[in-house]
This record gives sequence, structure tokens and C-alpha cells, in this order.
Amino acid sequence: MIEGSCCCGAVQFTLDRPPSMMGTCHCSRCRKVGANVLVFVARDSVSWVQGRENVARYQPEAPYTYGRCFCRTCGTSLGEILSEEESFPISAHALDSDLEIRNRFHEFVAEKPSWYEICDAAEQYDGHPVTT
Ligand SMILES: [Zn+2]
Ligand SMILES: [Zn+2]
Repeated sequence: MIEGSCCCGAVQFTLDRPPSMMGTCHCSRCRKVGANVLVFVARDSVSWVQGRENVARYQPEAPYTYGRCFCRTCGTSLGEILSEEESFPISAHALDSDLEIRNRFHEFVAEKPSWYEICDAAEQYDGHPVTT
């Protein structure tokens, strides 16, 4: 069982199995909301302990498409935790339990600020990862 929560504790959830993958996004959107390290979770692995109603969703204007969920009280980024997709990314920062998986890729490296140095050997992509 993997536990997750926001900074103030109003939002708490669990995952009944580990995320499938971890990736780091360097796009300006993820950077602004402080959600660069993402883990992909299956929707049916997420259970709410409390605070689902305390999660707000910001839907950006075009050309940006991804909705951003966050705690209404403390602002902790929660990724796409309210998504109806089968699998979606949430912020790895919101997880309290440690994970065995490691970062698999860096995406939108072209938008990365120079002060952030990539210090692992994971695959790097200028934009979205190329899936082969
Ligand atoms: Zn909170
Ligand atoms: Zn991003």
C-alpha cells in the first residue's frame, strides 16, 4: 500500500499497487506548478482516504491541454489525479511512501532552464518521449 497526501493533510489517498513508471518533465507548465517528477498510476489503483472534494482542477487555455489538480487549502500539486483516463500522471512529490521505481526519462528538455542539471542517465527528449 502506497500512501499519498498534500502538504496540509486535507487530501489523502492510497495506491493499492506501485506506479508503473516515473518520468521528469521540464516544460514550463510543470515547472510553474512544481510538478516535474511524475509517476503514472492506474485509475483503479487510487482510493480516497479523505479530501477528494478539496481537490481543485485548473484547466489552462490553449495551446496547453493538461488539467492540473491541486489542494484548495495548501496548493500542493497533485497532477491529473481526478482524470477519468485508465492511467494518468500524478506528482511523485505527493507520495509519502518510498518507491522502488526510478526516473525513466526526461521530457521537454528543450524547455529546461540551465540552472537545473540532469544528474541521471535516463533517456532525454526535447519534447514528448518517442515511443518505439
Ligand atoms: Zn492541502
Ligand atoms: Zn510538463
